[in-house]
Amino acid sequence: MTKHLTINVSDLRHRLGERRTIDIDVVLPALEVIASRSVPDEPVVGTVVIESIERGVSVVGQVGSAWIAECRRCLDDVEGRSEVQIDEIFQVDAPDDADLIDLVGDSIDLLPLVRDAVLVGLPLAPLCRETCTGPDPDRYPAVTIDEIEAERAAEEPTPDPRWAALGELDLNE
Ligand SMILES: [Zn+2]
Repeated sequence: MTKHLTINVSDLRHRLGERRTIDIDVVLPALEVIASRSVPDEPVVGTVVIESIERGVSVVGQVGSAWIAECRRCLDDVEGRSEVQIDEIFQVDAPDDADLIDLVGDSIDLLPLVRDAVLVGLPLAPLCRETCTGPDPDRYPAVTIDEIEAERAAEEPTPDPRWAALGELDLNE
């Protein structure tokens, strides 16, 4: 298990289309806690394929990691796992405005990619369970997305067929 993921790609870049599979098994250096969500000291595992492309390499794969978060209603700890896709391109002299990573020298560093993927995988609004009512359900009623949508659908007036017929008339005549 390593703490760095610097991969030398000079061999790979000798032939377009050449690929190498990298198994990722890394404990990330302490990730800052963001809004009560954190990543435990467990390895982040996954696989990426590095492929030689024109002027660089592409990195495509997936990493999985555990997370700990506070339930948004009752603030209990919630634990889970996320799997996040990685799909990036390292290019020599990458233009600043493009969504590419500058390829400098013979190596690429996968660590920032893995770290970003882990952060993306943190839940936005975790719940300990779908039916969690929180500490004060009378004041803060728990409403699921489905209920909100059902309510909205009920409020939307269905068009009256008589009005629909009127809409077809040419009123300028
Ligand atoms: Zn809860």
